[in-house]
Amino acid sequence: MLITLKDAATKLRAANKILITAHIQPDGDAIGSTLATMQILRGLGKTAQVFIDDTVRKNLHALPHFDEIRRPVSGETFDADLLLILDTSAERLGNVRKLTNAPALNIDHHITNTGADVDYLYVDKDAAATCEIVYRLARELDAEITPEIATCLYTGIATDTGFFQFSNTRAHTLAIASELITAGVSPHFISERMESKSLAEVQGLAAALNSLKMYFGDKVAGMILDHATMKKFDSTEGFIDEIRVIDTVDVAFLLSERAPNVCRVSMRSKGVDVSKIATSLGGGGHVRAAGCTLKTTLDEAEKILVGAIGNALGVGND
Ligand code: 5GP
Ligand code: MN
Repeated sequence: MLITLKDAATKLRAANKILITAHIQPDGDAIGSTLATMQILRGLGKTAQVFIDDTVRKNLHALPHFDEIRRPVSGETFDADLLLILDTSAERLGNVRKLTNAPALNIDHHITNTGADVDYLYVDKDAAATCEIVYRLARELDAEITPEIATCLYTGIATDTGFFQFSNTRAHTLAIASELITAGVSPHFISERMESKSLAEVQGLAAALNSLKMYFGDKVAGMILDHATMKKFDSTEGFIDEIRVIDTVDVAFLLSERAPNVCRVSMRSKGVDVSKIATSLGGGGHVRAAGCTLKTTLDEAEKILVGAIGNALGVGND
């Protein structure tokens, strides 16, 4: 059932024990929004705990209260009266759903979120990040925005907008960022922390760039990384941005084999709606940034993906 942000605030006010979660393969918005909401709810005297069923890239480990995030273990349950799902629809939660039968409140900014398998959904596709919505929620709840909360929220907004460069950066996005800086955020500190990469990651980027393939008269650029290459580095964060910038390119993709027959797809676009392509392949996302997982071989995944992108572009198979 679709609800307003006011309704979402009312549900949170009525709850006492809240289990907060976000998507697997968590990014700055997933971790920032869950940690900020945990602090906001605790500030209102509630019990709130974040569970994420995945590992988290190192750049996010220094966020306030990061060490309190828990990963569900097999057979575990958590006593909650509300499950709060942030920054994703319900299908990307790993085993978190097994922790509780509490009603699910979902707050998200993904256009592809249909509210399946949740009780209440507040979705705002014009929010650049879920952290932007959480900021408005905090205002709705009359919660104090501490410097720690502001740091978490700013990180999510900055990372989901490519540091205020992508098309989702709007006047209200910058207005909220400004409020967060007033609340105590140090933007350059967060930027430096987020752009930091290990030597292995930079070497991985070199390998990824070596795998660059162009399709459909250079309108599409792809990087394809097999499992052996993927094992050498722990993150592909930002790789796709290096090829998205090619002047002829409309759609860029990164196809990476995470395990045999498990291929992750990331897509970025300058025009075509890649959320539709991702949805048609079982994933989702935003108009200009989307992803999915293809459970097949790398070669087959490339064929399926390039075929779907070609159809969306209105061009034949390459
Ligand atoms: P990324 O390429 O950065 O992993 O993801 C781009 C956007 O698409 C993000 O907003 C992410 O949440 C969304 N996305 C990526 N993969 C999936 C997926 O498998 N399912 C859904 N529903 N969304 C995805
Ligand atoms: Mn997000």
